[in-house]
Amino acid sequence: MTDRGERPRVVVVGAGFAGLQVAKGLAGEEVEVVVLDRNNYHAFLPLLYQVGAAQIEASDIVHPVRAIFRGKENIQFGMMRVDRLDRERKVVTGNGIQVPYDYLVLAPGSQTNYLGVTGAREHALPFKTVHHALAVRNWILNRVERAAAAASPRKRRGLLTFVIVGGGPTGVELAGALAELVRKPLSRDFPDLDMAEVRIIIVEALDRLLPTFSEKASRYTEKRLDKLGVHVRTGEMVEEVTPTSIKLKGGQEISSDAVVWAAGVKGNPLAEACGLPVTKKATVPVDAFLRSPDDSSTFVVGDMAQVESDGEPVPMVAQGAIQGGRHAAENILREIRGEPLEPFSYRDLGYMAAVGRTRAVVELKGRTLTGMPAWPAWALVHVGKLVGFRNRLGVMLNWAADYVFAQPPLRLIMPYEETAAVEPEEEEKEEARAEKAGAAVEAQERERAQESPGTGD
Ligand SMILES: Cc1cc2nc3c(=O)[nH]c(=O)nc-3n(C[C@H](O)[C@H](O)[C@H](O)COP(=O)(O)OP(=O)(O)OC[C@H]3O[C@@H](n4cnc5c(N)ncnc54)[C@H](O)[C@@H]3O)c2cc1C
Repeated sequence: MTDRGERPRVVVVGAGFAGLQVAKGLAGEEVEVVVLDRNNYHAFLPLLYQVGAAQIEASDIVHPVRAIFRGKENIQFGMMRVDRLDRERKVVTGNGIQVPYDYLVLAPGSQTNYLGVTGAREHALPFKTVHHALAVRNWILNRVERAAAAASPRKRRGLLTFVIVGGGPTGVELAGALAELVRKPLSRDFPDLDMAEVRIIIVEALDRLLPTFSEKASRYTEKRLDKLGVHVRTGEMVEEVTPTSIKLKGGQEISSDAVVWAAGVKGNPLAEACGLPVTKKATVPVDAFLRSPDDSSTFVVGDMAQVESDGEPVPMVAQGAIQGGRHAAENILREIRGEPLEPFSYRDLGYMAAVGRTRAVVELKGRTLTGMPAWPAWALVHVGKLVGFRNRLGVMLNWAADYVFAQPPLRLIMPYEETAAVEPEEEEKEEARAEKAGAAVEAQERERAQESPGTGD
């Protein structure tokens, strides 16, 4: 019990991989849990590239947070963009609302890292959220439509050149999926367009794609992408992105006004905004128990935490977040029971990336599996980890239709909103309008009641 005589309150910021695990680990325990997220859904980011390449719907990879915790008596959800933290008073603030806590778990994930490259933020499209993926999908389809109507071959070629910066899993998966989209469905949709004119270029600063994987996996990936028609440029450092080109170190230039930035992530800006100590990558260095070292009631997990396990940094991947979230929940319960906390230990469950529709690379315990045999393992893990039966079914049906007919049904250019939630000013206006409307309804009801006294029951 707290000084207030209530169950201790744990506030969890972020309903991503880490935040969900914290809340699940505290479900049914003698604590009150409040999960806060700027969106009302959890997003499964590993399949974001399929949304960007028009293979599956955005709704297939998201799940409402309220539905995840339905029936869990001690868990509440609030849609809120947290922007401040008062550690003295133990209160988080967002959308003008203050939420007090006894324990705080920060799990707001990461943001795009433009690595200080001039013009990248202004002229390249980020690829980090569902909104970004929808923007990329619209943008690709839009450009192909415009190319079909282009008056000059030069304009057409420009519209059909796509550059992806970053040869990690996200860049590789997006490049492969985009190449497949062009080769099959789009070439059928646009019989008058010569799809050989499409250029997809992937640029990586290090000397191989998938630098965190084995060399065997990198070699396979490069070969496979080449076969799909992707131009692979490794060992090329991007120095500047301009409205019409990307400039490489050494003076070379690639002409393109269509650049997707998949070259890295850094910690969520919330850490700095809250005055927490941060690394150069804007992550919060945590102690062995996953707490902020200067504040024993604040745990930091997932992409925003800089965690070490057995002297090695824990990678910014879903497993790091899931295991960290689970561990933070256990440590909070230990602390409440007055037991000593346990240090975090990361279990490496391997790495995987899809390379086009039916191929993948999988690395597990020092062994590398590539090509078609790796794909079922990749698919099983990804579908298995999706939240919600409906989503799993939806994705599998989409894939089945895609593989049988090579014709994903989603090549629609839909309008999208740049921002996730309603902006605070808009929200205030909306609330004022709602209050006015509510007052009018009340007045009408009063009038009606006066006009026909005694008719109500
Ligand atoms: C395109 C892409 C592909 C990836 N593919 C893979 C993969 O194949 N395998 C793999 O292991 N990893 C992959 N990752 C990495 C993996 O998704 C992350 O490591 C993981 O999501 C981190 O979990 P998290 O809980 O820390 O953050 P997230 O899952 O990003 O969740 C953070 C949550 O916090 C919320 N939030 C953010 N700021 C605020 C705020 N101020 N107030 C309230 N809420 C906030 C967000 O809305 C979000 O719901 C990929 C990442 C991306 C971007």
